[in-house]
Amino acid sequence: MLRGRIIRSLSGFYTVDSQGQSIICKARGRFRKESLKPLVGDWCLFNVDDQGQGYIMEIEERKNELVRPPIANIDQALIFVSWKDPDFSSLLLDRFLAVVEDKGIEPIIIVTKIDLADENDDPQKYLSDYEKAGYRIYYLSSQKGIGISDIQNIFQNKVSVLTGQSGVGKSSLLNAISPNLTLQTGEISTALGRGRHTTRHVELFGLLGGWVADTPGFSSLSFNEMKKEDIRDNMIEFNLYKDKCKYRDCMHIKEEDCEIKRLVNEGIILKSRYENYIKFVNEIKSTY
Ligand code: GDP
Ligand code: ZN
Repeated sequence: MLRGRIIRSLSGFYTVDSQGQSIICKARGRFRKESLKPLVGDWCLFNVDDQGQGYIMEIEERKNELVRPPIANIDQALIFVSWKDPDFSSLLLDRFLAVVEDKGIEPIIIVTKIDLADENDDPQKYLSDYEKAGYRIYYLSSQKGIGISDIQNIFQNKVSVLTGQSGVGKSSLLNAISPNLTLQTGEISTALGRGRHTTRHVELFGLLGGWVADTPGFSSLSFNEMKKEDIRDNMIEFNLYKDKCKYRDCMHIKEEDCEIKRLVNEGIILKSRYENYIKFVNEIKSTY
């Protein structure tokens, strides 16, 4: 049997990429009885008959899986936030980070439209606490060509989903790094010439040695299946210091002798991150 990755799914046919070759396959294997539906991003084993028709026989275990859009084995989520137009929102960024972290997907923060920053406004300085916490951040302006060359190599051998509000510059970046894609600004999902109405399924397209989903990821930013402890554990900088809290399962809210609260007061943990954390926890509580 051959091994490959599903890069497209349409009406029961799956396009499998196997070492640069595309083979159209139907699903045949045992997994169908287990009501496992092949997903774009899946690694699979397949056979090819004399007519060149492929048959997926096995699906390999997934490392993660999104429902909307339906896609498996995502390596990284590029979280797009614009500095201006729309204005940078730490609440939105922290929400994206919490949801992406919870899926076990590596977040990469892409701050766009930095050409719109005024003189006394420094995105890099503003986000330095995120960098200190360990997040990878790229600052760019697709329009002015700033930061574009740095970001070229992040796609290599990875499956990426792009995420972020509409209008933050996702399509503009893709156009800037890969002019032959010719995306229309405003819609990643026109990458392959399909209209909006047919974007219910996902497709991966090859970009700079990796794969990128043609549909923005994490369309739902709800904390649906998350507990307040999940929110806490996804605040990665809390994890650096929580051992010093008096209580092992400290939520860093009402407890005494809490290291996290102390560090927020000292300005070592970003206050806005902490406040957003409280908002998220309250949001979860109120849905019970
Ligand atoms: P998407 O919805 O996230 O794909 O965003 P688009 O790429 O369509 O960009 C939305 C708008 O922002 C368009 O009018 C772009 O021209 C503009 N835009 C994108 N990148 C930049 C940038 O780096 N600087 C500025 N000033 N505008 C940008
Ligand atoms: Zn604590």
